[in-house]
Amino acid sequence: MGDIVNINGMFERELCTQCGTCYSLCPKGNIDVKRSSIGSFVFHVKDETRCVGCGICYEVCPGHEVDFDELNSHLFPEAPADPFMGSYKSTFLAQSTDEGIRNSCASGGVISSLLMFALDRGLISGAVVVRMSERNPLEPEVFVAKGAEEVLSASQSKYLPVPMNIGLREVMEADEGRFALVGLPCHIHGLRKAELLFPKLRERIVLCLGLLCGPGPSLLMTEYLIRRAGLRVEEVAKVKYREKPHNRWPGGMLITAKTGEKRYIPLENYLYAQTLFTLPRCGMCPDFSNELADLSFGDAHLPEFRRNMDMTGPEGEILRGRDGWNIVISRTERGEKLLREAAGSGAVRLVEIDPRLVVRSQKWGFYYKKRAVFARMNIRKALRQPVPRFKGLKPPEGGLRVTDYIKPILFLLIQRISITRLGSLLLGLIPERILMRKFRFKQRLMDRACRGYLLRRKRSG
Ligand SMILES: Cc1cc2nc3c(=O)[nH]c(=O)nc-3n(C[C@H](O)[C@H](O)[C@H](O)COP(=O)(O)OP(=O)(O)OC[C@H]3O[C@@H](n4cnc5c(N)ncnc54)[C@H](O)[C@@H]3O)c2cc1C
Ligand code: SF4
Ligand code: SF4
Repeated sequence: MGDIVNINGMFERELCTQCGTCYSLCPKGNIDVKRSSIGSFVFHVKDETRCVGCGICYEVCPGHEVDFDELNSHLFPEAPADPFMGSYKSTFLAQSTDEGIRNSCASGGVISSLLMFALDRGLISGAVVVRMSERNPLEPEVFVAKGAEEVLSASQSKYLPVPMNIGLREVMEADEGRFALVGLPCHIHGLRKAELLFPKLRERIVLCLGLLCGPGPSLLMTEYLIRRAGLRVEEVAKVKYREKPHNRWPGGMLITAKTGEKRYIPLENYLYAQTLFTLPRCGMCPDFSNELADLSFGDAHLPEFRRNMDMTGPEGEILRGRDGWNIVISRTERGEKLLREAAGSGAVRLVEIDPRLVVRSQKWGFYYKKRAVFARMNIRKALRQPVPRFKGLKPPEGGLRVTDYIKPILFLLIQRISITRLGSLLLGLIPERILMRKFRFKQRLMDRACRGYLLRRKRSG
């Protein structure tokens, strides 16, 4: 890595995850952020003459290095039990019991419900979350939510770069308080690295709620989808990525024009674009299920739910997919306690499931981050491009086959195109049905992998 002692150059070397940790923890407040030509957040040292060379920004940065062995050993009593999911205690299907909350959230609304529960019980005084800015429709706004209304204003996934950990500055500067942070795996990596250096942070962030991430797209994806929907970016007043117009999971992207006109793209019609517009550092990310969070949350992409069928739970209860469900991986004592207390109080509903169902229903995400990532990094190394150092990462059993390199080569070629404005315009010329067909094929493979696992289908009539 040469002689870098601060984070300058991290973005140019394509190692920056845009997490924002450096911004919050520089003791001199000397890290600034600007936007790149494609809307990425570029963190840099504001004034080199004020940099004291302490190296803190570099040490907390997950972009160039994550020591999973070390971070795991601080969080868990034993080494990770599962090569895909990491350390865990139990796995659930879960949903908020409040229909209104579920309908305004991404999956089952469990994250928002848990935050509201924790605020209500005084377990936390605030939560670092993100909402879309009122003034700029394509700008994420990180803030500390202090009440239920603010928590709900941040509901739903934002599929664009979010520098979540800039919110840690407020956490560190507050006179007192206990906080939660919701974040993608790279946000939690940055937070966990920072906790090693700053005990105050460890005391203040008492809850890490992690999202599954498979993987993060650039802002160009949103712009591309707006154009696909027949609008110009300047015409847009509001974007919501997981709106449920008919109160049915999984919802989709609702674009509201300044004229009030609305355009809607169902989630399954734009999931392909998430891979198409993957950011360079996200192509080297080995964590799908947020292995260092207290609790990890994803969509319950069970084949039956996707086909809008009811299922019977282990105790004979009827589970309706369209109501929205989360997959939850509970990892730590405090995460498990919160989840069970919230269920005990009636805020969330829990159905314990076979952990294999989690892996199988998210097979593609695990493959992408646990196997193909090694091929993508090897290709970058062969091209003498920088790659992050990951300690404690286990290569796939039996090693990589030559065929494991085919898709990553294609992926890296497409990525070179999709991270430029011109390239993203050219991708808009490819008929959408071709791009979607490939995605649907992958979906069918995953559906097949889930067969025979625990839950039973409800045959109506
Ligand atoms: C980029 C991205 C990729 C994802 N990939 C997958 C996937 O491959 N498979 C899967 O099953 N699930 C994935 N998810 C998670 C899924 O979309 C839901 O966010 C998750 O299931 C939580 O649902 P919920 O209803 O409990 O959340 P809600 O109650 O709606 O709350 C959402 C919370 O997430 C926070 N948030 C939203 N966007 C971001 C962001 N970009 N960065 C940090 N925090 C954010 C908000 O502040 C809010 O607190 C992804 C999410 C994102 C943002
Ligand atoms: S700490 Fe995060 S935002 Fe800062 S340089 Fe590293 S990866 Fe980028
Ligand atoms: S793929 Fe990894 S680096 Fe990219 S946004 Fe998701 S967690 Fe962060």
